[in-house]
Amino acid sequence: MTITSFHPPQRTLMGPGPSDVHPRITEALARPTIGHLDPEFIRMMDELKSLIQYAFKTSNRLTLPISAPGSAGMEACFANLVEEGDKVIVCINGVFGGRMKENVIRMGGTAITVESDWGRAVDPKAVEETLNTHPDAKILAFVHAETSTGARSDAKTLCELARKHNCLTIVDTVTSLAGSELEVDEWGIDAIYSGSQKCLSCVPGLSPVSFSEAAIEKIQARKTPVRSWFLDMNLIMGYWGGDGKRAYHHTAPVNQLYALHESLCLLQEEGLENSWERHKLHHQALVAGLAAMGLEMLVPEEERLAQLNAVVIPEGVNDGAVRQQLLAEYNLEIGAGLGAFAGKVWRIGLMGYAANQTNVLNCLSALESALLRQGHTFTPGEAVKAAISIYQ
Ligand SMILES: *Cc1c(COP(=O)(O)O)cnc(C)c1O
Repeated sequence: MTITSFHPPQRTLMGPGPSDVHPRITEALARPTIGHLDPEFIRMMDELKSLIQYAFKTSNRLTLPISAPGSAGMEACFANLVEEGDKVIVCINGVFGGRMKENVIRMGGTAITVESDWGRAVDPKAVEETLNTHPDAKILAFVHAETSTGARSDAKTLCELARKHNCLTIVDTVTSLAGSELEVDEWGIDAIYSGSQKCLSCVPGLSPVSFSEAAIEKIQARKTPVRSWFLDMNLIMGYWGGDGKRAYHHTAPVNQLYALHESLCLLQEEGLENSWERHKLHHQALVAGLAAMGLEMLVPEEERLAQLNAVVIPEGVNDGAVRQQLLAEYNLEIGAGLGAFAGKVWRIGLMGYAANQTNVLNCLSALESALLRQGHTFTPGEAVKAAISIYQ
C-alpha cells in the first residue's frame, strides 16, 4: 500500500492549545531552511531574543527559546535551579502545579506543597505561612495561568512574598504569555517559561524561557552538574550567548524559530498591552453568551483567565456527544476537562489569533445547537445577542 500525503482538516482551535496559527506564521515555516550557524540565522536569533524580552517585559540577558515544548521549559527551570537537597515550595491548584512537584523530586529536591482548591487562584496567605514554616526554602514555584482550571494567580504578590523570604521564583506562564498582564522584571520573577502554541498562536514545540541575574548566579554556583545535558543552561548559553560566538550544542529547529519570530513580530505590531485587552474583550463577550444559555463558569470572576474559560457542563448533558458534534459539524475544537474535572467542565480557549469576534459568535451558535439537541432548556438566539451587546 502506498501512503499518500497527510492533509489535516481545517479546524477552529478553541481548546487549551494548540490555538489557531496565524497564516503569516505558517508562511514563515515554509521559508528556506538555512544552517543554524549561518550569519543570517544568527542575526535572526538576536532579533528573536529581543522579541522574547519584549513579550516577557524583561531585560534578562539569559532569554531564549528552548527547542522543545512548554514541558521542556518547565524541566529546564527545575533542572538548572534545583540542586540535591534544595527545599522548593510548590503551589498546586491544578494539573500543572502537580507536574512542578514531580520535577522537584526528580531533580533531587524536597517539595513542600501548598494546595489550593482547583478552580481557584493560589492562596497567598497559605503561601506566606508555608514560607514562614520553612525559612530554609530556596525556591517558590507556581503556575500563573492554570490551564486545567482557568484560574489566574496573583503572580506579583507571590513573587513579593518569595523575595521577602529570600526565595527565587519559578513561574509557569505557558498560557499567560501575551494573554494576561505579565511583567517579569517589574514583578521580580527569577525563572520563567512559556510555550509557543497558546497565546502566541505559533506552532507547538518551542518554549521561551528567561532567567534573572540571581537565577544565573545560582546556576553558576552549582556544586553538581545539571542533571539534564540537553537542558543545561551553561551549555545552551554557548549557542545563544550574546557575544557573537556560537558553539554547536544541538541543531536548532530552524524553521520553527522563523515561525516564533513571526508570531512575536505580530505581537509587537499589535502591542503587548493591546493583546491583553483583546483577550479580555472576547472573554467578556463569550461569558455573556454562555450566561445567556444558563451556563456557569467554574472560576470566580476576579480570578478568571480570559484565554481559558472553564464552563460547568449542565446536568444531563453528554460531554463527549457535544464535543463530538462541534468537531463534526462545525470543525470546532473545545477542550475537555482535565484530571479531577474530566466530564465536569469544558475548557474554551480564546488564545492568540483564535481570540476574535467570529470565533466567539461561531462557538456560541455551535454550542446552542449542540445543547438544544441535548435537551438543555434556554432561549435560542439569546447567547449570540448577549455577546454582540458586549461588542457594541
Ligand atoms: C500547555 C501547558 C504546559 C505544557 O506545555 P506543552 O507545550 O504542552 O509541553 C505547561 N504548563 C501549562 C500551564 C500549560 O498550559
